[in-house]
Amino acid sequence: MVQPLFLKPVFKERIWGGTALKEFGYHLPSDKTGECWAISAHPNGPSEIVNGPFAGKTLDKLWKENPELFGNPEGAVFPLLTKILDANMDLSVQVHPDDTYAMANENGELGKTECWYIIDCKDDADMIFGHNAKTKEELVEQIEEGNWNELLRRVKIKPGDFFYVPSGTIHALCEGTLVLETQQSSDTTYRVYDYDRKDDQGNLRDLHLDKAIDVTTVPHKDAESTPGIEEKEDVEITTFTKSDFFSVYKWNVKGSAAFNFSEKYLLMSVIKGQGSLIHNGETYSFEKGNHVILPVGMGDFEINGECEVIVSHP
Ligand code: ZN
Repeated sequence: MVQPLFLKPVFKERIWGGTALKEFGYHLPSDKTGECWAISAHPNGPSEIVNGPFAGKTLDKLWKENPELFGNPEGAVFPLLTKILDANMDLSVQVHPDDTYAMANENGELGKTECWYIIDCKDDADMIFGHNAKTKEELVEQIEEGNWNELLRRVKIKPGDFFYVPSGTIHALCEGTLVLETQQSSDTTYRVYDYDRKDDQGNLRDLHLDKAIDVTTVPHKDAESTPGIEEKEDVEITTFTKSDFFSVYKWNVKGSAAFNFSEKYLLMSVIKGQGSLIHNGETYSFEKGNHVILPVGMGDFEINGECEVIVSHP
C-alpha cells in the first residue's frame, strides 16, 4: 500500500561546514558538518527509509526494486538530490557540467543543475553568482591572472530568496548561509578558486581549471525567476521554478490543507514548524528536519499544522 516514506539523512564533513544543522534536531558527526544529504539515491551517500514495509532499504535500492512507487520511470537513476547546506565559511568558487559533458567526461554521471532556497543567512550576506567576462579568452585571462574581484559577480541574499543555478554557472555560497538545495543527482564539481586555503595537512585543495573553463557559460546568463504565489484554504503555495530538471515549491501551511497527487512522486523537506499528514486514515506526524517521499498514487491527503515545507518533483 502506498504511504509516505520518511528518510534518514546522511551527513558530510566539509572544511567550510559548522554546527548550524543542529537546529534541525540532527546529531552531527563533526563540528564541521557542511552537508545533510536529505533525500539521496546517489552512491556517495544514499538515504535510508525509516518507516513502513521498506524500512532499512536505501533509496537507490527502492528505486530499482519498486519502480511502481515512482511511476515506472525510464531513467536509470533517481534523478534528484535534496541537501541542506551549512556554509559556516565560504565555499570554493565552482561550476558544474551539463548532462552531455558529464556523460562523456565523468563516467556517465548526470550533469548538475541546482537551485537554492535560502533558509537563513547572516545580515548583509552575499554569494557569488556568475562572472563578468564577455568572452572565453577574457575568462581564461582573468582566471590566470587571479583577478577574482573583477571577474566574480556578488549578489546580496536574504532569507526566503530562491536562486536557480543552471549547469555552467560559476557560483559559491558564502559564509553565514543556510540553504536547502534541490539538484540533479550528481556529485561532480569543478573547482575554480578556493581562496588559497589549506587543509589540516597544509595542502591546497585541487582545482579543475580546464574542465571548469570548458563548461562555463560565457557571457554569464542570469536565470531570473519570479516566484508565483497561490493562496487556497490554509496553505500558501509558492512556485519557485518549473524547469526541465525539477519543479520546486514552498508550501506554507497554517491550519488544514487538502492535496491530491496521483501521477507524480513528491520530495518533501520540512524546514519550519511541525504538523501531521493524514492519508488513508493514518496520521504521520512530522517536524522541522524531516524529509519524506510521497510515492506515485498517494491520491488525497491532508496536512495539518503550522509548517513550511519545500516540495519538489522531477
Ligand atoms: Zn554547486
